[in-house]
Amino acid sequence: MLWALFSRSWVDVPINFFAIEHPQGLVLFDAGLDPGVQNDREYVKDPIVRFFMRRLFRLKMNPKETLANKLAEKGLETSRVKKVVISHLHFDHHGGIADVPQAELIISSDEWEKLSETHPEREFIFKEHIEIRGARWFPVDFPDTRDPLFEPFGGYYDLMDDGSLTLLPTPGHTPGSLSMLIRVEGKSPLLLVGDLAYNREMLMEDRVPGIGEKEQLLATFEKVRGLQKRLPGMVILPAHDFMNGDISDFC
Ligand SMILES: [Zn+2]
Repeated sequence: MLWALFSRSWVDVPINFFAIEHPQGLVLFDAGLDPGVQNDREYVKDPIVRFFMRRLFRLKMNPKETLANKLAEKGLETSRVKKVVISHLHFDHHGGIADVPQAELIISSDEWEKLSETHPEREFIFKEHIEIRGARWFPVDFPDTRDPLFEPFGGYYDLMDDGSLTLLPTPGHTPGSLSMLIRVEGKSPLLLVGDLAYNREMLMEDRVPGIGEKEQLLATFEKVRGLQKRLPGMVILPAHDFMNGDISDFC
C-alpha cells in the first residue's frame, strides 16, 4: 500500500504469452494484455481499483498489440488455436481471449473459484473481461499421482493426453496459479510458470514477488527446483522475464 501511494520508480517488464505448435493444433499459454486496459477509461469499473492500477502499472502498449496481431507477426492464425491455458486470472494474462472464441480456455478449478468471491476486482481479477460472451472456460483439477516426477506437486493434468504438455498446480502468487511443462523429444524441457516469480533468479534465490502468499510461494519454489533436479536442463520461464534468448532453440 505504501509503495503504491508514494513510490516514484517503476521497473520495465515484458508481458509474454507463449504459442506452442502441437500436432493437434496451436496451444497458447496465457493470452497477454488487452490494449483496452490502457485505452479504455472504463475498462476497470471500480474507481479505487482504477486509481491503484494507474499507480502500480505504467503500460506502454501500442493499441495494435493484440493477441491476433502478435500471432500474425509469427505467421500463426488465430483460427488454429485449439486451447489456451491461463496461468491465473490477473488481467495481464487473459487479455486476448476474445480473439480466439473457438478455443478451449483451460484454468485451474481453484483459480476459477476466485470469481465467486465478493470482490475479485480488488485483486485485479475483472469478471466482466473473463466471463465474456462465447468464452468456453474449462476449469480442471489435478488428480493425485504416484508418478515420482510429479508427486511433490500433489497431481498433474495431461493437457493433450500424450505427455507433451503437463499442467501442474503452482500456488502462491494466487491460490490457483498453474504452470505448464513442455516436453519434446530431443529438446530441453521448458516450464512456463506464469507469475510464480517475475524472473528466474528470484525463484532460484527465494525472493518472492510482492503479490502472493509468501510461505506458499517458497514451498512452490522448492517443488519447482526439485523438478529441475529430476529433469536436468529444464528451462524455467516466468511470464514477465526478458528471457535473454533462452528459448531461441524453440522459436
Ligand atoms: Zn499475476
